[in-house]
Amino acid sequence: MQFRDLKTQYNIHKDAIDEAIDEVIESTVFINGSAVKELEKALSDYVGTSNCITCANGTDALQLALMAWGIHEGDAVFVPDFTFFSSAEVVSTVGATPVFVDIDIKTFNMSTDDLSGRIEWILNNTDLRPAAIIAVDLFGQPADHVEIRSIAEKYDMYVLEDGAQGFGGRIGNKKACSFGDISTTSFFPAKPLGCYGDGGAVFTDDQGWAELIASYKVHGKGTDKYDNVRIGMNSRLDTIQAAVLKRKLLFFDEETEKCNNVANMYYKCISSIENVILPHIREGYYSSWAQYTILLKNRDHRQVVIDRLRENDIPAMIYYRKPMHKQGAFENNICSGLNYANSDDVCERCLSLPMSAYITFEEIEQIADVIKSCE
Ligand SMILES: *Cc1c(COP(=O)(O)O)cnc(C)c1O
Repeated sequence: MQFRDLKTQYNIHKDAIDEAIDEVIESTVFINGSAVKELEKALSDYVGTSNCITCANGTDALQLALMAWGIHEGDAVFVPDFTFFSSAEVVSTVGATPVFVDIDIKTFNMSTDDLSGRIEWILNNTDLRPAAIIAVDLFGQPADHVEIRSIAEKYDMYVLEDGAQGFGGRIGNKKACSFGDISTTSFFPAKPLGCYGDGGAVFTDDQGWAELIASYKVHGKGTDKYDNVRIGMNSRLDTIQAAVLKRKLLFFDEETEKCNNVANMYYKCISSIENVILPHIREGYYSSWAQYTILLKNRDHRQVVIDRLRENDIPAMIYYRKPMHKQGAFENNICSGLNYANSDDVCERCLSLPMSAYITFEEIEQIADVIKSCE
């Protein structure tokens, strides 16, 4: 069994994907080929924003957004404590201070109560200026963007949606990567929409920021690459990756729908097992199921389940083992000593199970049997 079955996906779409790659190789336009612009158009149409700027990966996408806003030393940027390292790393990269926010125990996304509390804490205890909120759509489910938006407005802060795992999700009919003032995603192979290497994109309705980001990602270019008006970076999406993504976007919704069927099958087979908590998708929310993450009773129970799954050749992963406030790189963070009851708890007991469009009901039953045997 595969954790994320990219092989079956490729085999099904092999001819079309090979053709898309071959076309780029034949053209030899490996950088800034026509597929890049075409993909940006297709992605902005899909998400419903007026601009999409592709870049080299999801981490650069986040950094480019912070650069466009001029986030710098003295700024506080609020980040969920339970996420992939990038979400917080970029804040430090631009010289600002990440402030970690505890999560909601049911959705694993940023707790909006805790967000308000931490903003007040920063205002009352530090000289930092609350500048932005990085709202992560963890495991495919959009964050509580409605409440986050209202908090951002109250304190006059920007919202950066980290949709690296959220692409394909929705709240009502509004798509992930359209909720932030700027939103980003990653095309790392295992993400909901993955390419065949690294890739990322930035989305925004703001023309000025879009132009700044387009400049920052090409060495701070002015009229062209050899006219440099600001210090930027080199962060492009290769033409080959764009061609692969353009092709994969055509069957992306169908696959996401299948992942939702797989989630329903998991629910059917696992919900009755004692001491196992299934992922909770909020009313009106639609997940793209970047991960299917359950909670077990405690750390020991989780280890028993992992071992027994492994004996049965079923891969399972711990996303994530360590919250941001316990990462060595953030040892001297302003938040050390604050309370993170939920993210600490989730890191002890979370386990991500195989998730892709191609898992069969029999495989889900087998996974459920193994988990049941560990009750
Ligand atoms: C994967 C991921 C990123 C970074 O994306 P890369 O393309 O690997 O740089 C950022 N944020 C979250 C939440 C992610 O899962």
